[in-house]
Amino acid sequence: MQLGIKSSREQRSGTEQITKVAVAQGDGIGPEIMKATLAILKAAGARIEPEFIELGERVYLAGNSAGIAEESWEVIKRNKVILKAPITTPQGKGYKSLNVTLRKSLGLFANVRPVRALDPFVATGHPTMDVVIIRENEEDLYAGIEHQQTQDVVQCLKLITRPGCEKIIRYAFEYARAYGRKKVTCMVKDNIMKLTDGLFHQVFQEIAPEYPEIETEVQIIDIGAARLAAHPERYDVVVTSNLYGDIISDIVAEVAGSVGLAGSANVGKEIALFEAIHGSAPDIAGREMANPSGLLNAAVMMLAHIGQSEIADKIKNAWLATIEDGIATADIYRAGQRQQKVGTQAFAEAIIERLGSQPQQLKASRMTLGNGLINIKAYERPAVRKTLVGVDVFLDWPGSDPQIIGQQLDQLGDAKMKLKMITNRGVKVYPKGQAYTYCTDHWRCRFIATEVAPQASPPMYREITFERLLSLLSKLHQAGFDVIKTENLYEFGGRRGFSLGQGE
Ligand code: NAD
Repeated sequence: MQLGIKSSREQRSGTEQITKVAVAQGDGIGPEIMKATLAILKAAGARIEPEFIELGERVYLAGNSAGIAEESWEVIKRNKVILKAPITTPQGKGYKSLNVTLRKSLGLFANVRPVRALDPFVATGHPTMDVVIIRENEEDLYAGIEHQQTQDVVQCLKLITRPGCEKIIRYAFEYARAYGRKKVTCMVKDNIMKLTDGLFHQVFQEIAPEYPEIETEVQIIDIGAARLAAHPERYDVVVTSNLYGDIISDIVAEVAGSVGLAGSANVGKEIALFEAIHGSAPDIAGREMANPSGLLNAAVMMLAHIGQSEIADKIKNAWLATIEDGIATADIYRAGQRQQKVGTQAFAEAIIERLGSQPQQLKASRMTLGNGLINIKAYERPAVRKTLVGVDVFLDWPGSDPQIIGQQLDQLGDAKMKLKMITNRGVKVYPKGQAYTYCTDHWRCRFIATEVAPQASPPMYREITFERLLSLLSKLHQAGFDVIKTENLYEFGGRRGFSLGQGE
C-alpha cells in the first residue's frame, strides 16, 4: 500500500499536480489559525486546493451527536487528505469524541508526532532533541471493551493484532527511510505482557532486518519513558502501542517546551488527517492572539505526505527563521528578551517574508533527505493449525479460601481434562498458593487436557473437543458455580497460545 505519497521521481521533477484537501476550520481559534496557515501555504506555492468541510461545535449543537455533517464524509473520502483545526466538544453527555470517530472510522492507524527543541528561542533543557513518536492508533486498551464481571472486579481487554503490529512497525521504518532518520526504538512491556507486548516486540524483530541501514533498539516502556524524559536527544524515531504512545508523545512535547507548537498526523492506508496537538482555546478566540505554529507544523507534515517535501522544508525553514528573529505570538513571548510581540496574522506575514530563508542557529528542516516514499506491504495471513487444549473458566465466588473451591473443582475433572490451577488476579492460589495472597471474588480456574509428553518443556497437550468444554460448564453450573466468562486455551502450530499463571 502506498500512503498517498507521490513517487520520488515525480517529487524530484516537481510535477505540478494539485492535491485537493478537505479543510476543517474548527472552532474557537480554529478559523484564525487556519486562515494564517492557508495564507503561508499559498505564498509558499503549495500545490493544494482546499475544499472546506463542516465539523465541530455547530454540528454537535445542531443535534448531530457525532459532530460531523454527512456531506463532510463524502469530501473526506473523495480527497483522502484532511487538514483540521481544533474543535470544541460541547460540555455534557451524549457527544461522541470526533477525534476518536475520525480515527476509527477512517482506519487512521498511525499517529505521528515529531517534536524538536527550538532552544534558545523556546526554553528547554534539551537543545538538540529531535524525536518522532509513532503511536499505534486503533488497538490496545483503546478498543474500549470493558466489563464489570463481579461485584468487586472490572476488566478492560487489551487487543494487539499481528496485522496491526506489522502496519505500525513497517510504517515507523518506512517513515525513517522516507525522511532520512537513522534509528528506530521500539518500546514494549513484554517482560510482563508476554503475549500482547511480546507480539509487538517479535514483529519488530522480524521486520527490522528489511531495513539494514536503520539502527534499532528495544526498550521496556518504563525505563524507556524515563530516558526519553531525561535524555530525549538520544532518540530518533520511537514506535510503540496505543496507550504507551499516548503517554510518551505528551512527555516529549512537554520536555521540548513546545506543547503549543507541535503538529501531528493520523495516517491510514488511504486517508490521512493533520492537526495541531492543542485544543480550540476558547479563552483567546477572536482576539488575534493565537499561535498558528501547531497547525502550520501539521500542514508541513501534510505537504511531505503528499509528496511536496521541498515546499514543506521551505515553510518549516521560514518558520524557524521567524522564531530566530524573535517574532513571537503572546504565548511564546518573554518580556525582557529580544523579541517582538505580534498577532496571529502578523506572525504569518513574518513567515511569508522569510520564505526562502534558512535558520542560522536552529537545525534546518531536511525532509527531502530520505526517499519520500512510504510503502506498507499487505498483510499475508499464513495457515497455522489451531488446537483446542483446555479452558480458563472465570467464576464469581464470594468465598476466600482457595482450598475450598480448589477441592470442589478437582472433583469435576476427568481422565482427559483436569483442573490445573486456580489464580486470583493472575497469581496462583491453588494448588500450593501463598497464604498471604489477597483473594477477590474473581477466580480463574484452568482446566487443561492431559499432556502428550509430560516431561516436555513446554508441555504439548492432547487436543480436546468443544463438547468436553460444554460438558464441564454444565457440571460447574449444576454444582452451583457462577460462571462469568470462559477463555479457550489453544496451541497454534504446536506453540502455547496462553500465558502461565504467576507462580505456576
Ligand atoms: P486548549 O489546548 O484549547 O487550551 C489550553 C491553553 O493553551 C489555553 O490557555 C489556551 O489559550 C492555550 N492555547 C492553546 N492553543 C494555543 C495557541 N495556538 N496559541 C496560544 N495559546 C494557545 O485546551 P482546553 O482548554 O483543555 O480545551 C479547549 C477545547 O478544545 C475543548 O472543547 C476541548 O475538547 C477541545 N480540544 C480539541 C482538540 C482537537 O480538536 N484536536 C484537542 C484538544 C482539546
